[in-house]
Amino acid sequence: MKTMTCKQLGGACDTEFHANTFDEMAEISKKHGMEMFQAGDAEHLKAMNDMQELMKSPGAMNEWFDNKRKEFDALPGTN
Ligand SMILES: [Zn+2]
Repeated sequence: MKTMTCKQLGGACDTEFHANTFDEMAEISKKHGMEMFQAGDAEHLKAMNDMQELMKSPGAMNEWFDNKRKEFDALPGTN
């Protein structure tokens, strides 16, 4: 298992997510983001807007994901 925080994944809080793969991590983070979005959390809404701005540039999303995947891979994992 590896741990990343909401902030590390482009979010707004220090909530920790635990997953074995980066894809799993991205899923959990996305779900958390949706929950915060539905709750109308201002910090998360802002983080999401920033993310959407970033995604407007071509290739930015892939680049962002690649970087996060590398970050995830570099983390010390625990079984
Ligand atoms: Zn969060």
